[in-house]
This record gives sequence, C-alpha cells and structure tokens, in this order.
Amino acid sequence: MPRWIIVIVPKKLGWSIIMLVCCLGLLFYFGSEPMAIYTLNLANSEIKYDIMLDPGHGGIDPGAIGKGDIYEKHYVLDIVLQMAEILEDQGLKVGLTRDHDRDVSHLVDKGTRHRRDLLGRFKLMNQAKLGISVHANATKDPTESGAIVFYMKDRYIDKVYAQIVLEELEKVQVLNERKVVPRNTLILLKANPPVILVEVGFMTNPTDLEKLGDPQFRTNLAHALSDGIIKFVQWRSAEKTENSI
Ligand SMILES: [Zn+2]
Repeated sequence: MPRWIIVIVPKKLGWSIIMLVCCLGLLFYFGSEPMAIYTLNLANSEIKYDIMLDPGHGGIDPGAIGKGDIYEKHYVLDIVLQMAEILEDQGLKVGLTRDHDRDVSHLVDKGTRHRRDLLGRFKLMNQAKLGISVHANATKDPTESGAIVFYMKDRYIDKVYAQIVLEELEKVQVLNERKVVPRNTLILLKANPPVILVEVGFMTNPTDLEKLGDPQFRTNLAHALSDGIIKFVQWRSAEKTENSI
C-alpha cells in the first residue's frame, strides 16, 4: 500500500469524527434546555432591579395543597408581598414575578403552560442582580417538616447567599435540611444572578400547615428571609470593595 494512503485515510477519518461530534453536539445543544436558557439570557440582559422576588405558582396552578384545600400559591404570595415592602424600605429596588393570583406563562410564546410559566420566571430573574423563589413543600410522608434552601451547585456566591438566608430562616422555622442543598436541575437557579429557592415548610405536615396558616408566622418568615437578603447584599458589597482595593 502506498505510504500516502496510510497518512490520508486516518486524517479524513479524524475530520469525519470531529464533524460528526460537532453536529451531534449542536443538535443536542439547540434541541435542549440550555438553548432555551441561552436565548432568554441574551434577550434579557438589562438589569432593572436589585432583587427579583418570585412567589411560586399562581393562577390555575395552586402549588402544593394542604388539608382543607389550602393552597401554597396564596401563602407564598403573602410572604413575598411583605418581603417586597421590607426590602423597599431598606432601599432595594424590588421586582416581583407576580403581585397577585396569576402565573407568568404569558411572558413566553412556546411550550406548555407550565413550561412557559417557568421560563417566564427565569426571564424575569435575569432582570435583577439577585433572586429568590419562595415555595411551600409537599410530600407523601406527613412527618416531613421544616424549611429547605436550594442553591445552584458549584456556584460559590450562590452558596454563601443560601447559607446566610438559611441562618436567618433557622431563627423562625425548623429546618428539614441542616445545610443548604445544591441542585443543578432547577431552571430558576440557572439564571444569571445568584438565585435561591426556599421551601418554607411542608403543606403536607400538620404542624407546618398550622404555622403557615398563622399570619404572624408568615410575617416572621418574610422578615427572616429579608434579613438574610440584606445581610448577603452587605456581604457582597463588602467583598467587592475589598477586591477593588
Ligand atoms: Zn411550590
């Protein structure tokens, strides 16, 4: 066999493999979630708020349902509206994904209602320097109770943010998870700014449900979450000043 064939064939094969890998990579990327997120990131890079507050669910989506037809969407909205007042009083420019009983699926054109709602919230998160999504949990086991704070896995700043909020939350509510919980599957956490998702308790746990039904407890939660946010904002600006010296 002439020598040039031995050289050329592997080269061609090499390029074919590279092209194939590239095509498969592009196919996977454009047809998958990262592409949707990428598009929304590009479309919404203008920062309008210091913080975006997201009360979960709303409208036809009740979220978790507690005994007696009690809906998560109402409790988290009440907590978040109080947080908005507290944080505005502290001088922060606050954005809300919703301020009444509706979802935000109207912000995105394609996909199922649930998907459009989720991406609508994601889109709004990207308009802020910081974000928090507030929820109440549900599970089959009625003994599960307490708060959980999720943050984006492998993002150091997000973890610090989550830890500071957890420390404040612990003052008013028992914890389900002693430590902040990393997640890389929750879309909201993948937004540009640090975003945490807080489960304030379990709608399926009788004690948590009773607590959440108490307006004073919801006010306590609103203050604890806001205190955590303020402390993180202060920590972050101190870090920036230190780094710029
Ligand atoms: Zn929820």
